[in-house]
Amino acid sequence: MKIAMIGTGYVGLVSGVCFSDFGHDIVCVDKDPRKIEMLERGEVPIFEPGLDRLMAKNVEAGRLTFTRDLKAAIAGADAVFIAVGTPTRRGDGHADLTYVMAAAEEIAKAADHYMVIVTKSTVPVGTNRKVAEVVRAANPDLDFDVASNPEFLREGAAIDDFMKPDRVVVGVQTDRAAKVMEEIYRPLYLRDFPIVTTDLESAEMIKYAANAFLATKITFINEIAALCEKVGADVKMVSKGMGMDGRIGNKFLHAGPGYGGSCFPKDTKALARIGQEHGQPMQITEAVIKVNEEVKRRMIDKLRDLCGGSFNGKTVAVLGVTFKPNTDDMRDAPSLTIVPALVGGGARVRVTDPQGRHEGEALLPGVTWEPDPYAATAHADLLVILTEWNEFRALDLARIANGMSTRRMADLRNIYSAEDAAEAGFDAYDSIGRQGHG
Ligand code: NAD
Repeated sequence: MKIAMIGTGYVGLVSGVCFSDFGHDIVCVDKDPRKIEMLERGEVPIFEPGLDRLMAKNVEAGRLTFTRDLKAAIAGADAVFIAVGTPTRRGDGHADLTYVMAAAEEIAKAADHYMVIVTKSTVPVGTNRKVAEVVRAANPDLDFDVASNPEFLREGAAIDDFMKPDRVVVGVQTDRAAKVMEEIYRPLYLRDFPIVTTDLESAEMIKYAANAFLATKITFINEIAALCEKVGADVKMVSKGMGMDGRIGNKFLHAGPGYGGSCFPKDTKALARIGQEHGQPMQITEAVIKVNEEVKRRMIDKLRDLCGGSFNGKTVAVLGVTFKPNTDDMRDAPSLTIVPALVGGGARVRVTDPQGRHEGEALLPGVTWEPDPYAATAHADLLVILTEWNEFRALDLARIANGMSTRRMADLRNIYSAEDAAEAGFDAYDSIGRQGHG
């Protein structure tokens, strides 16, 4: 199959590379000249474990190329995937479809043969039909189908998620489009990974419902964690005991500083907006959005308490700024709420992150970047663990405590315990949903 992939972000690039590894011929297109230049030099513009090697292998095999020229990319293509961003539209929480519709129009103007136009971006219910209208208006003679193929990969584990998915969802209107999509995903189908074929609207809805459900699960345990702190329970034990119930499952039950990232915040807001527009308010999702904001605010209160009531004049070391480990993605990361509160409160903030500096420098003004946790915590008054990178899971806590001016730790990912902290010489330790000390 010959496929064009529009957008070489986290989803487009991973999908393009993985499809080429299936044996398809892939041309990846992006408007951003910097990205295409990097890709042509064999450099990966994002941090995603394993992507550089898989990309090099498929470029070498002649199955994967990069260009800014959309018309050339779709010449002879069986399918063209739209994998551009759908950020939150300013003001109303709706998904901004400008990039999707612009890509649809460009495809329509350049296309001259039958192809399936597949939306991989996360888009509100009804968007694929609108894509079809835009294409029809721009090129009335074009023979085409649209298909919805939402993506479920997680940054940091994207290749494995794409190659070994729990399921692939495909929404189509015609058998002809279904056959093309079947052919594209044949390598997964042959290895017994389930393909769920639906109508367009159900496919679009599956993606939002799945993300809102996961955001709800995280927020539920975060709220339980807050109550655990009040009643003397330990949320780690509570999660463990709950998660062993097969009906509940143990995933997405880790209490933390609130969900963030490029998907959950914008997709929950978009779902709430879709509900409002259809006179069917998504009350649970709306509550989740509100509670998640409160979770982040509670984190700031926790840190202020550990600093004795004020950040003013304190030196705070922050470990981790990306929204989760194994990615350089900073979009809607909890650090973007918490760090400015520290800086705004008068703290000197020293930050370290294995991959976050490149994106983070512009987003977190007024902080000092340090090469590692030991440099960041030297003479600090408070250590804050914000992202659970593996590098932060086995720190020499005694060495850290020794170097600090005041030995206090806020472990917002529950990767240590009050006992670990006390043994290492910390005078105060607080975490999420557990009893601290000091
Ligand atoms: P991204 O911002 O990393 O990448 C989007 C890319 O599209 C950019 O490189 C941009 O330059 C390019 N682009 C925009 N308009 C273009 C055009 N007309 N022609 C060519 N290139 C164009 O976005 P992302 O994180 O990859 O997300 C893409 C979509 O996938 C979103 O809808 C998102 O919700 C969804 N999604 C993301 C994830 C994730 O983990 N990031 C997971 C599942 C689904």
